[in-house]
Amino acid sequence: MLRQRPFLVEALTAAGLIAAPFVLPHLGFTPTTINRILVWGVFGIGFDILFGFTGLLSFGQSAFFGTGGMVAAYLLTIANFPHVVTSLIIGMLVAGVVGYLVGLIALRRTGIYFAMITVAIAEVFFFVEFNPLAAYTGGENGLPGVPTPSLDLGFTTFHFDSDTSLYAFLAFWYFIGMVIALRIVRSPVGAVLRAIRDNPLRASAVGHNIHGYKLTAFVIAAAYAGFAGGLLGVMQGFMPPDAFMFDTSGQLVMQTAIGGAGTLFGPLVGATVWLYLSDFLQTTLHLGAAWKLVLGIVFVLLVCFLRRGLIGGTADLLAAALGRAGKTAEPTEKALTAQDERKAAAAADAVEPSHHATRARAGERGAAPILEARGLTKRYGGLVANSDITFSVLPGELRGIIGPNGAGKTTFFKMLTCEIPPTAGRILFEGRDITGMTVTDVCQLGLTKSYQINQLFNRLTVRENLTVAALAELRGKFKLDLFASPEKVSRLDEHVQYALALVGLSERVDTPVAQLAYGEKRRLEIGLALATNPKLLLLDEPFAGMSPRERTETVQLLKSIRRGRTMVIVDHDMDAIFQLAERITVLHEGRVLVEGTPEEIKSNAAVQEAYLGGVQAA
Ligand code: ATP
Repeated sequence: MLRQRPFLVEALTAAGLIAAPFVLPHLGFTPTTINRILVWGVFGIGFDILFGFTGLLSFGQSAFFGTGGMVAAYLLTIANFPHVVTSLIIGMLVAGVVGYLVGLIALRRTGIYFAMITVAIAEVFFFVEFNPLAAYTGGENGLPGVPTPSLDLGFTTFHFDSDTSLYAFLAFWYFIGMVIALRIVRSPVGAVLRAIRDNPLRASAVGHNIHGYKLTAFVIAAAYAGFAGGLLGVMQGFMPPDAFMFDTSGQLVMQTAIGGAGTLFGPLVGATVWLYLSDFLQTTLHLGAAWKLVLGIVFVLLVCFLRRGLIGGTADLLAAALGRAGKTAEPTEKALTAQDERKAAAAADAVEPSHHATRARAGERGAAPILEARGLTKRYGGLVANSDITFSVLPGELRGIIGPNGAGKTTFFKMLTCEIPPTAGRILFEGRDITGMTVTDVCQLGLTKSYQINQLFNRLTVRENLTVAALAELRGKFKLDLFASPEKVSRLDEHVQYALALVGLSERVDTPVAQLAYGEKRRLEIGLALATNPKLLLLDEPFAGMSPRERTETVQLLKSIRRGRTMVIVDHDMDAIFQLAERITVLHEGRVLVEGTPEEIKSNAAVQEAYLGGVQAA
């Protein structure tokens, strides 16, 4: 997506829009139906950015469709405002502002609760339109007499008052809407939106303010909906009150699912199928009210058999026909070679990210700790997972943390990265109190972790995964560079190549995560954390689930990336920790049992007791 041929999609869109009015009538589409498809298409572009790209399923888009439409229609009828396009833009802006306010409330929740809030808010808008605001919206009569647009050419004025000329007007705006949307989804913001869709937890953990980006997507969708609502009034010469109805939102969701979410064109294709079938079933087959039954069955069949919609399904079929499917079925792991390790070392030398420029020598005596935990305690009801832990790491140190199952290691790590708040105690990073900060802010400061269970962006490629993490480092936690190209982000490629080389995935760069072997996914998991260029890297069970060969490779990998970096590793694999760490902290029953060098820990009776339950080690 990031490296497409410039303007190919735009050129094909223009060609399709020019050809459509000549082709579609031969397939049984009436001119009015073709125009309605375009209105739904514009409506759907914004919705697809919200649903298909960001993963937020809203059932409340009718609120913004109706708001934009009513504002434009009110200006053009009751207020006698003469400029159609200006009215459409004002309607769009009002819908965007309303979207911002609604988004502030709805985005406080996720998943089904988010969807339910959007339904409820749309119902509120429907009620308000029909009752308190009926004087402005026409209540159940809607607003008739919306004028058609015209274009003043100086010597004459062109009126878009026939079906054909209205098609040109609508197609022009669809094209503009698509060009803008393509820029957005190809921008750094678009990359972050896809990351949020795939894994919001990790998107925030690599340093993105996901609430800000979700709100952005919500406002964009509301603005598109508002503009499309205005187009509906202009196209029909009448702004209908049913624009506000739940059916409108539901139809938009179904059309997007039919066409294919996350494609931008899916809603247009879905609207084409939906409106064609609805015309065909009612007017040609005279099915009366039963048309919805047939449409429902068609919808269920399509969604069951084409889970990625018509566009996604067609792309899959094409890929299969081209023989790519066979190649992707069985992932083959590309093991780390000695050459990869040399490359990783060279990458570490070649690129000296800013954080490391000031790094201290490993475990430098007398240096101030980079990380300190003072009296950290975490209680879950009556259960004390961590109790009064005092712990510090020096710059450049590689610390290991071990402990039997349930000792509280993961809880401790989660508190250190501010994923969960401590019940008591404080955490200091580079002398700064970070207790109570968010995981995003802490990552921006240079403290992040890799996860025990992979937290990757599964629908993205290796490069796109690392790009998302590097973007947080290079752009900060929130930036609205909606129309910028990722290639223009200074040093992005350098950072991605650096992380790729460090984790030995340079030859898998364009492979989707789903096709990676397990060991490669584990390396990418570490790569994501490294791409944020952390000053302190915490690794939560990096050897979890690995085969002996993968474990050996990962030990080598960590040795090559550790040079001068400050790292803390939690793992059950004692051999690996003893090989890697300079000092080891042993946790037991939520407390620090002992701390020392690997030799001291190996021979410590209390540690043997904790692990062996009292049986003396041989
Ligand atoms: P393991 O090595 O098995 O991963 P661990 O040392 O990482 O274990 P934690 O996962 O931190 O240990 O768990 C410490 C204790 O806290 C356990 O008794 C666990 O059941 C409990 N615990 C952890 N998370 C929660 C939670 N969200 N709610 C309640 N109890 C929890």
